[in-house]
Amino acid sequence: TTDIAAILGRLAVAPINPAWSTGNISGPSEGGPLIACFSPVDGAHIAAVGEASAADYHAVVAKATEAFATWREVPAPRRGEIVRQFGEALRRHKDDLGALVSYEMGKSLQEGLGEVQEMIDICDFATGLSRQLYGLTIASERPGHRMYEQWHPLGVVGIISAFNFPVAVWSWNAAIAWVCGNVCVWKPSEKTPLSAAACQAIIAGVLARHGLPEGISCLVQGGRALGELLAGDPRIALVSATGSTRMGKAVAAAVAARLGKSILELGGNNAMIITAHADLDIALPAAVFGAVGTAGQRCTSTRRLIIHASVYDAFKARLVRAYGQLRIGNPLDEANHVGPLIDRAAVGSYLAAIAACEEQGGHFLVKGEVLSGEGYASGCYVRPCIAEVSPDMPIVQAETFAPILYLMKYEILDEAIRIQNEVPQGLSSAIMTLNLREAERFLSAGGSDCGIANVNIGTSGAEIGGAFGGEKETGGGRESGSDAWKAYMRRQTNTINYSDKLPLAQGIKFNL
Ligand code: NAD
Repeated sequence: TTDIAAILGRLAVAPINPAWSTGNISGPSEGGPLIACFSPVDGAHIAAVGEASAADYHAVVAKATEAFATWREVPAPRRGEIVRQFGEALRRHKDDLGALVSYEMGKSLQEGLGEVQEMIDICDFATGLSRQLYGLTIASERPGHRMYEQWHPLGVVGIISAFNFPVAVWSWNAAIAWVCGNVCVWKPSEKTPLSAAACQAIIAGVLARHGLPEGISCLVQGGRALGELLAGDPRIALVSATGSTRMGKAVAAAVAARLGKSILELGGNNAMIITAHADLDIALPAAVFGAVGTAGQRCTSTRRLIIHASVYDAFKARLVRAYGQLRIGNPLDEANHVGPLIDRAAVGSYLAAIAACEEQGGHFLVKGEVLSGEGYASGCYVRPCIAEVSPDMPIVQAETFAPILYLMKYEILDEAIRIQNEVPQGLSSAIMTLNLREAERFLSAGGSDCGIANVNIGTSGAEIGGAFGGEKETGGGRESGSDAWKAYMRRQTNTINYSDKLPLAQGIKFNL
């Protein structure tokens, strides 16, 4: 069993106190409303966390704005050193934070630890980046002139995150934003406030040790209303929002209305194409892990398999057999493959999608159900299921955040690519093939329209080194590696005249 009280203690999270706060500046109004935290693992009430009021929020943003004036003056490599030390602190707290994430969110312990590892990795990446915030030198058309561009911090970055990656997504944003010279205000998911509080306690410790303003990292706990405040607030230079497409459309409209900047990381509806030339021994675990890992609650979860007619029946039989071997239960027990959904509302969406699928003509090969009895007391454990469908069914076009896998058949590769692309979302995609022409076709301009396109690995998960994100209703934002940092900075073009003349551009003459 997990001694959650001891873990929270070691992480310096004191959740039971109604006047609860961490890092001082994230405190809710005393006696204000509380967010109750339940674990989907066993249904236990873990703690209550104070919700930030609008007044708390405004106080926090004022603190952040003040901290920015200090932080932007710290040389970038020094900022990188602070982020490096944050990574070191995460290494020390990895076991506890990983366990807390697993228990609060319901993902496997291995995945909880993996999330913390991702945080550590992005800190390493950001530390290196802090010495590489390069701008270009540009050849001026005017004699005695020099042109270059440089990158400056934006200011306060607002981070709205989803429940399914309670800590990693924040760190992707925060670590990069910090080395770029920004300060962050984080509004985590109201479904995973404790993991957020633990992260805030860790970074607050690092900042305090260096006598840096605590407003460099701020946390406000609450739900949609708080997110709306952030999106509409002109003091927030950049809003990076991860979550559903519904949320993203609301945030995009609010931020655009004030001409602010946004990074949107929204829903996916990810497909894997399995061709006649696929190595089915690779395709099978990739499909199963992609569909049932994290109980289908990853933005990159595999939701659709588009399978060539010649291997369809053989693959289907192997898939159904593999589903028969899945062990569903407590995700902290390594013997289990599939843990719970986040809450009973998510179970409701799963059941509604199954009903819609049947009504729209889908045929279930493995039937879904909600599990009950010993070990399933939270009511959040469901059986991963598989349905044969036609690609144009409305339910197949939508993202259901649960382990429901749709199977489709194709004859010609371009038809498979068309089916794959003909959904509103565009996050992750994969092709399983040993055929060079098929692989290259899939990766070409006429191939996958997604932000992520893989060959012979599944759709699920990504490394921090690449830019992460997707197209269309996935929102178009990019986070994490590559040059995603540029979205966290403003570009300034500088022209310097070191001559004793004032030549105008485009040869314009202005004689006085
Ligand atoms: P959600 O949209 O319900 O909530 C996400 C966050 O947005 C929460 O913090 C919530 O409080 C906040 N929010 C909700 N409505 C808002 C509004 N109108 N204005 C401002 N903030 C608002 O999503 P969820 O259920 O927590 O997460 C699941 C979704 O997130 C899935 O669609 C999944 O695909 C997506 N996701 C995407 C990525 C990605 O990188 N593309 C990563 C993880 C999750």
